[in-house]
Amino acid sequence: MPRPILATIHAEALRHNLARMRSAAPDAKVWAVVKANAYGHGIERVYDALRAADGFALLDLQEAERVRALGWRGPILLLEGAFEARDLELCSRLGLWHVVHCDEQIEWLAAHKTQVPHRVFLKMNSGMNRLGFAPQRYRAAWARLDALPQVEEISLMTHFSDADGPRGILHQLRVFVETTRDLSGERSLANSAAALRHSDEPAVRSDWIRPGIAVYGSAPDYPGHDIAHWGLQPTMTLATRVLAVQQLLPGDTVGYGSSFTADAPLRIGVVACGYADGYPRHCSTGTPVLVDGVRTRLVGRVSMDMIAVDLTPVPHAGFGSEVTMWGRAANGAVLSIDEVAASAGTLGYELMCALAQRVPVVVD
Ligand SMILES: *Cc1c(COP(=O)(O)O)cnc(C)c1O
Repeated sequence: MPRPILATIHAEALRHNLARMRSAAPDAKVWAVVKANAYGHGIERVYDALRAADGFALLDLQEAERVRALGWRGPILLLEGAFEARDLELCSRLGLWHVVHCDEQIEWLAAHKTQVPHRVFLKMNSGMNRLGFAPQRYRAAWARLDALPQVEEISLMTHFSDADGPRGILHQLRVFVETTRDLSGERSLANSAAALRHSDEPAVRSDWIRPGIAVYGSAPDYPGHDIAHWGLQPTMTLATRVLAVQQLLPGDTVGYGSSFTADAPLRIGVVACGYADGYPRHCSTGTPVLVDGVRTRLVGRVSMDMIAVDLTPVPHAGFGSEVTMWGRAANGAVLSIDEVAASAGTLGYELMCALAQRVPVVVD
């Protein structure tokens, strides 16, 4: 028998979340962001559920090839554009739209021999200071692209640094709107957090939104809001089973470093999941977990292949009982990946992307 750990990708939840994001900006087209192998879910596994998107956005050229190989003939956007001049050949061959964020990418385009002119998304650095042309250089870049026979259409794009937090988007939005006022072309501004929290701004709703994390059932602004608040459903369940039960006496400790000491008699289950499965080692005693769909807690340190859980709230549980590390239990109970991530001082993004290769995955 294989080790009893399994990740399940919930196709219905992906469909639901995509529709939910569409409803946040009903007039916009939706890029389903499938970078990082669909946030760890697997591009091939999510493809069918996300085909209702208007396009797929990603950054790895091999991932773009995989989306085309699945039969997708609609738009694909390379969020970081070409990494070297010859990447443009693949863009021509596969009809990939690509971000232009720096002068080098304009040079490559100007030198590119193509029959089919390209659709590009010209990126402004409106304050994130990651990729894009500074506002004072943006219009010159637009004019250069506009003059190139290799370019068919220019869309305008920026990315927000604080759509999920108190600083918000207005400081960046103002710069973007002012700089682009009289430039033609479609706009793309919103990630999940912007689409959910700032869709009252017309510019945020136009013309292409780019949700990633919300499609995968994680709240972009947790703990401010959780997935229930945003009407999102978990799309990944990481489930395992109890491998062994130990009865502790007061003073007994659990696991490496004896980080947990029982102060009373305690029944614990040892479960088949550890940091080599992608479960964060930083989760400590108290991190929530579901046993038979009932909420309980981790005790002691996460080791490579095993974790101990407190069985007190589930006295009937024992060898073979279902354990949900995150996602949805058989009884329908939900443990959001965001809650587990918060216990590890990180985000749902990191946990889903870090699901380990050794964990078998099914789609339901
Ligand atoms: C990853 C990414 C997104 C999606 O962000 P989420 O926070 O996952 O919604 C959107 N736009 C760009 C440019 C990205 O890199």
